[in-house]
This record gives sequence, structure tokens and C-alpha cells, in this order.
Amino acid sequence: MAHTLRTIDYGVLQQCMHCGMCLPTCPTYDTTRRERNSPRGRIALMRAMADGELEMSREFADEMSYCLGCLACQTACPAGVNYAELFETARSDIEASGVQPGLARQIWRGLTLGFLFRHPTALRVAGRLLRVYQRSGLESLVRRSGATELLPASLRRLEPQAPRMAAAFSNVLIAPREEPTVPRRYAVALLTGCVQDLVYPDVNRDTADVLLANGCAVETPPSQPCCGSLHAHNGDLEAARGQARRLIDLLPPERYDAIISNAGGCGSHLRRYGPLLADDPGYRDAARAWDTKVRDVHEWLAQIGCRPPLTAPYDAPVSVTYHESCHLAHGQKVVREPRSLLRLIPGVSLVELKESSWCCGSAGIYALSQPAQAELLLERKVTHVRETGAAVVATGNPGCQMQIARGLRDAGSQTRVVHPISLMAAAYRRETGAAA
Ligand code: SF4
Ligand code: SF4
Repeated sequence: MAHTLRTIDYGVLQQCMHCGMCLPTCPTYDTTRRERNSPRGRIALMRAMADGELEMSREFADEMSYCLGCLACQTACPAGVNYAELFETARSDIEASGVQPGLARQIWRGLTLGFLFRHPTALRVAGRLLRVYQRSGLESLVRRSGATELLPASLRRLEPQAPRMAAAFSNVLIAPREEPTVPRRYAVALLTGCVQDLVYPDVNRDTADVLLANGCAVETPPSQPCCGSLHAHNGDLEAARGQARRLIDLLPPERYDAIISNAGGCGSHLRRYGPLLADDPGYRDAARAWDTKVRDVHEWLAQIGCRPPLTAPYDAPVSVTYHESCHLAHGQKVVREPRSLLRLIPGVSLVELKESSWCCGSAGIYALSQPAQAELLLERKVTHVRETGAAVVATGNPGCQMQIARGLRDAGSQTRVVHPISLMAAAYRRETGAAA
């Protein structure tokens, strides 16, 4: 049965005891200081919906769209409120109600969530076409001609921010099965993601290399369905369930010691297939087993004991600061492990970032739906990064990587943004004299 705010376990809604400890951690409340823009206020609205005191409305939808889904409130909450479940259920109710009309929005959702993120081959074809557009000179021609002015306002804002597509995706860079050159200790599956695959497939190659260097045989199916995180986050829980079933069929959990994700946002969703498929007798048990096998790559390496590299990733020592992906820190509670891995790398000095787990404004499609708030958060993040004086920002989520890289670029900063695993992989490669 598909749950709604009126049918989910009422205990989840009752957990909030209105203490307000989540308020200082909420970026939207911090901006407006309005109770309704806080976790406590939003939970009160959801409970009123569940109690039948409030009808579904455009105002409620706007409020839930303003929420980043960053889950900082979940970390701060002493009562253990499951905000992720409430948030996804509320967004699912909103989509089902149709209170957010608009033909352009429906077409955009249908094209992305309904088609591209359900068909990995089509997504890669779209990525290749976008690369041709970006590299052929067509992009600058279109911009010079003013044709982008014809786009809807939201797409017009997004167009200059479109990420650069990679020349080759993960299926070209990684063989379906790779064996470690050191004694084999584990068998793992590597999830290549959607955005990661199109924009940062080198991070997937780096992840495979680091796993191989640590005795893991790596299985990476060349074509992988989207994990469904984007669907769940944007109110399409039925599609999210379908994607979860496809991924479980592709990578039966009993076959692996671990199923590895290197994207904080995906990982947070991937390890909650059990609750997502709890009402599906055909997949319930497999989904529970799946959840026990999913690991963020930093977490897995810390668990098995990562071998420290013998060489530095670059010729000169480098100062690195670490930005925490919300869903890695708050959704998966992976906080210490990335820092510990960075400290293992020779030539890297870690400088702490102020408000390191404060959202950068990426948050899925937030920059598209709430551009003003997204920009505020990005400016705040860029300011703190510049205060560190670090030459490199390390972060474990492609959305954060793109967002912060754009913010730094726009601010005229030379600071690079990389995945922590890429620094580790570069250091390993220099041990053998391979190009970093
Ligand atoms: S998920 Fe983030 S933005 Fe939403 S209520 Fe919680 S802290 Fe605030
Ligand atoms: S910290 Fe938890 S219990 Fe307290 S107001 Fe926030 S959500 Fe409610």
C-alpha cells in the first residue's frame, strides 16, 4: 500500500515534542526566522494534514518545496524524528494531489524523472548530445544569438549552470569485473550513479582503483538503473520502488560483501530500500538484506582498514578542506571516515571548514526550484571555503561537487573541488609512477 500522511504510522508524526533543538540547524529557518519554515513548523503542518485539520494546498506544497530535505534537523533531534520519511511522504502526497500545476513543470518532470532517469541508455545518449552541444561551438552560438531568452525562466537560469559532460562514461572506463593485484579479500559491487556517471565518471574509476588496491574484487555492471533517490526526493515513491526492484535484481545482495556507493545523496536513499519495499512480499526480504550490504565508500574503506598510500597525490604538499554532503553526514551518519581517509594521504593537510555540514544549496533540483535560497547557501559556503585558504575542497557527492565548483569559479577562485577518493587514487597511482 502506498503510504500518505493520513496512513503512515501515526507514531512517526507524534515523535516531535516541540523542543526546538532542530531550529538552529535548519538553513531555511536561519534565513527567514519564521516558524513555518522550520522543521518543527513543517512537522506541525504535516500532522495537521494527517489529522484532517488542513487540506492539501499550494501553500503547503510551496512550504515543502522550500525545505531542502537536507536532514540536518534529523541529526539534531533528540527524539529521533524520522524527518526523511515524513518529507518524502509529504512530497508524494503533494504530487498525487496535483496542486502544483503547470505544463512546463509536468513536461520537465516527465522527461527527467519519468523517462531519462528510468532508462540508463537514454540518459547516456542525452549526455552525449549535451556534450556535442557544449563542445561543438553550438552552445556559445545559441547564447550569443539570445535564443536562450526563449526558454522558460527556470531553464534559462539553469542553462549556464549545466554541468560539463564527460568524454567517456563509466562503462568505458571500468570493466564489468576487475580483480585486485594484491591478494583478494572481498567481492564488492560498485554503483556508478547517474550524475556521477555523466559528469564525474573519473570518480568511479578512482573508486574502483582504490577498492582494487585494498584487495576488493570489483563488479561494475556497465548499465545500471538509477537508484530512485531523485524520484523519492521529488514525490514519486512508486517510481522509486520500481527502481529499487531493478537494482536488487541486477545486484543480488547475497553475492557481495558490500555494495559500494560513492555519492552521498544516492547512498542515503540506497540503504533505505527495506522500508521502501516493506509492503512488497516479493522483495521485502531481499530489500532488508540489501540495506545491510550498502556502504558508502569511505565507510567501507574504514571498515576493512585502508592501506595508507606511500606517496602524495601531487608534487607539492596541499591543504585540503572537507565539505560534508548533507546526505552523507545526516542521512548516513558518515562523518569521521572521510576525514580519517584524507589524513592517511601523505602531503595532504586537512583544514577544517566552518559549518562543514551546512547545506551548499545543491539538494537535488533545489537550485532549479528555489534559486534564491540556493544562491544564498552557495555564497555562504564559498565564503567559508575561501576563509580556510585551502587549495582543494574534498566532498563526497557529485551535486555538492558541481555546486561548490560553480560557486568558486563565479567568485574567481582557483580552488579545485574533488572527491576524497580521487586524492587517494592519485596518491596510489604515483606509487607506481602511473599518471595521476
Ligand atoms: S530537512 Fe533541512 S531544510 Fe528541511 S526542515 Fe530539516 S533542516 Fe530544515
Ligand atoms: S528537535 Fe525533534 S522533537 Fe525537537 S522540535 Fe525539532 S523535530 Fe521536534
